[in-house]
Amino acid sequence: MTPKVPAITLNDNTSIPQLGFGVFQIPPADTERLVSVALEAGYRHIDTAAIYGNEAGVGRAIAASGIPREELYVTTKLWNDRHDDAGAALDESLERLGLDRVDLYLIHWPCPAQNRYVEAWQQLVGLREKGLTTSIGVSNFLPEHIDRLSMTSRVTPVVNQIELHPALQQWKDIDAARVHGIRVEAWAPLGQGRTDLLEAPEIVDAATAHGVSPAQVIIRWHLQNGVILFPKSSHPERIRENIDVFGFELSSGEMADITSLDEGEDGRVGPHPSDVES
Ligand code: NAD
Repeated sequence: MTPKVPAITLNDNTSIPQLGFGVFQIPPADTERLVSVALEAGYRHIDTAAIYGNEAGVGRAIAASGIPREELYVTTKLWNDRHDDAGAALDESLERLGLDRVDLYLIHWPCPAQNRYVEAWQQLVGLREKGLTTSIGVSNFLPEHIDRLSMTSRVTPVVNQIELHPALQQWKDIDAARVHGIRVEAWAPLGQGRTDLLEAPEIVDAATAHGVSPAQVIIRWHLQNGVILFPKSSHPERIRENIDVFGFELSSGEMADITSLDEGEDGRVGPHPSDVES
């Protein structure tokens, strides 16, 4: 049975499947096979990036699937050394993906010391106008970067994709996005597999109570919080497990127990957005 993944309406009136498949760190040689597994399992939203080096594999899996293009949602991202060259960078991504447009194009990191993200955003606005991407958004933007875009552009990002999981809950950034009508996407939704998170009693107890896995509990916690996410796995059985999350619901008590796991900045598994320039 095809899983019923909810669709979220974005501020440009398009919609995005709330749960997708992320391909960070999936080797190019494995990408076509694993994205094919994901599409067979019912995923219709794939999150990749130029820097992952695996857009071509994503494209081959899409082409082989026979799934109509309009049923798929494909995101890719502009890398940090192309903030002044977004048009050519997106052309190259489209070529590798074998697509004539993506659904969502993101500025991958703000790179504040380079100070070119406003210029990059203006270029993304132009690419959207040309129909090369349906929607545009940002990733790893701090509230101050979003504020600056809002002061310099009429176009608001549809999403901000940030590191977000039970150990790093980012309430301040979520609130800042909400003020602008921007939806939050969680990267590293499983904390990149941090075992202390998957073994936390609050998560294991909920998993036992519902007869599901700890990863499924964390995915459900994000979904019930209204966040968009795309957990990654290289294992077919886990890829299928991670979308089999629509047959149970966490209680408000279970949600609150998981929310108590926030470690703030200490919970980060990736770099702070102020520190990434290349
Ligand atoms: P993730 O939180 O999805 O963790 C993936 C890891 O969790 C796997 O490698 C595995 O170790 C474990 N795992 C997955 N399913 C499991 C299961 N069912 N049971 C037990 N363990 C399981 O981490 P991620 O890949 O970093 O993040 C997801 C996606 O977010 C990426 O693939 C990518 O698309 C995106 N991303 C974006 C950025 C950004 O800067 N915008 C950065 C990192 C990731």
